[in-house]
Amino acid sequence: MRPMTTLLINSVYRATEGEGIHIGIPQIFVRFQGCNIGCVNCDTKETWDFDPSYTVSLDEVMEKIEHLSQDIIKRVSITGGDPLHPSHVPSLIELIKELKTRGYFVNIEAAGTRIVKEVFDIADFVSYDFKTPSTQVRTSQDLLLKFINEYSSKAQVKAVVANKKDFEATYDAFHFMKASKAASVPWCLTPCYEPEEAFPMNRFQQVVQLNESFGLPFRVIGQQHKWVYGPESRLV
Ligand code: SF4
Repeated sequence: MRPMTTLLINSVYRATEGEGIHIGIPQIFVRFQGCNIGCVNCDTKETWDFDPSYTVSLDEVMEKIEHLSQDIIKRVSITGGDPLHPSHVPSLIELIKELKTRGYFVNIEAAGTRIVKEVFDIADFVSYDFKTPSTQVRTSQDLLLKFINEYSSKAQVKAVVANKKDFEATYDAFHFMKASKAASVPWCLTPCYEPEEAFPMNRFQQVVQLNESFGLPFRVIGQQHKWVYGPESRLV
């Protein structure tokens, strides 16, 4: 008999995609529990702890997904936490395989610190973070280039931008990809929310204006769910 697959899951919920190029599409989110990447402006710090009390079986996760799906929503976005942490990867692969068997489109939210070939190969889409200086986490440009060249047909790059320095770092990375003749993928800038902020209007405008002054290389897409429900809301 096969050993039972278990996963560390923070939550499974249905919501409308609030950011990136798939904004506005209803889907089911599976949020892994556990991340040791440590972005200083992380908005889900409650998902950092690899707390075993969040353990659930694959069957339980699938049951919840199928209940939320009602056979109408056949898209799942897998996020975190860091679903690509090596301790999550074996169960993540089992989850993706099961979802694919049942006809779901599967998006992976990747933190921009690693390429996990066995996951990216079987996912339908990979949203890859470029970590900006304000996160105090670094995305290697060489790693990003490798990612784009291997997965351009099903990828976007997302960067959270808090200030001009973040914009310029993202532009440097974008320019490096162009100079390296990387394949073309959509790049999305997400104006950062500071804690307690209802809507970062001035920062949003600054990012739009910077994009204009640098020749409009990016799409600027805010985090819709935060202004609709408030930045502290969960499961939205
Ligand atoms: S990778 Fe995601 S969950 Fe982990 S610290 Fe960064 S923003 Fe938070």
